Amino acid sequence: MRLEADVHVCHAKGCGTPIPSRLLMCRPHWALVPPPLKRRVLEAFTPGQERGQVRPSQEWTQAAMAAIKAVALTERHQAEQTAVPVSDEMPVEVWWP
Ligand SMILES: [Zn+2]
Repeated sequence: MRLEADVHVCHAKGCGTPIPSRLLMCRPHWALVPPPLKRRVLEAFTPGQERGQVRPSQEWTQAAMAAIKAVALTERHQAEQTAVPVSDEMPVEVWWP
């Protein structure tokens, strides 16, 4: 698949969804970003950075990295919560503190 110039893939770990380059993540992943972080990412966005005309600010880079990390943590947590033992030979008990 050929990617257009203004399209890149979602920044969430392991996601390859093509999205417009002005967006950081695809819709399902962006939905996992805590609202205060979303605001930080959006407020620090510099118009033109999606085309490589302007370097993203340090503020944006930090906010974007924090958002990517938050999504990765949320996804890992969800995977742990929905993990169901495949066989009952070895019962697995999970305690949530
Ligand atoms: Zn994604």
